Amino acid sequence: MPGIPQNTARPNERKLNFWERIYLPEVLKGLGYSFAKMSEPLYTFQYPDEQWLPPDGYRGRPVLVEEGGKPRCVSCNLCARACPPMAISMQSHDIGGEKEREPQWFEINMLRCIYCGFCEEVCPEEAIVMSKEYDMTFQSREEAVFGMDRLLVPKERLKDRLDWLAAQRNPDPATSWEHPRANNRHSLRERPFLGHVAAHGSHDA
Ligand code: SF4
Ligand code: SF4
Repeated sequence: MPGIPQNTARPNERKLNFWERIYLPEVLKGLGYSFAKMSEPLYTFQYPDEQWLPPDGYRGRPVLVEEGGKPRCVSCNLCARACPPMAISMQSHDIGGEKEREPQWFEINMLRCIYCGFCEEVCPEEAIVMSKEYDMTFQSREEAVFGMDRLLVPKERLKDRLDWLAAQRNPDPATSWEHPRANNRHSLRERPFLGHVAAHGSHDA
């Protein structure tokens, strides 16, 4: 209401003393702190001239493992089903032989990807893994949709990650309970083992 002074002070507001009200000592205190820090060692990277090399367990952009010039992927669609933001899409095609199927096309929308690593975790073939690449820029939405041309990385270049995954893996989940080991051998990489089992007529070897 006009004419009536309003109390705008907050209940917990502290009263500033004279020196605080003229600000100058506080400004000098701040400058002193900055100068003191200048003589300390630097912990920042001069990015992008200096690149940070992440550890093997780092989750950078997901990539497809290329083995012998071909994708390791068997196009089972598990990664696409597990991906929370539905960033993965693919179409499989029959190729015959032991592998049976391969992706005809495979895309990851990097604008959607949240680098959670679920795709890597569910993949029965270790065909999709998290890489160490973290610096990506796009000029358009279309550019952010990575096809096989940008997703496929030779196995040799992913050795760090594949070794790290091997070290993390439960060596044999079926030893802790009554469960035929062969039930866990569903991966294509385990088929020589299954062939061996079939030849010897046992599932508990
Ligand atoms: S890292 Fe996560 S969000 Fe990205 S593609 Fe894999 S499952 Fe999807
Ligand atoms: S889970 Fe693995 S094998 Fe299956 S479609 Fe995804 S990348 Fe390919």
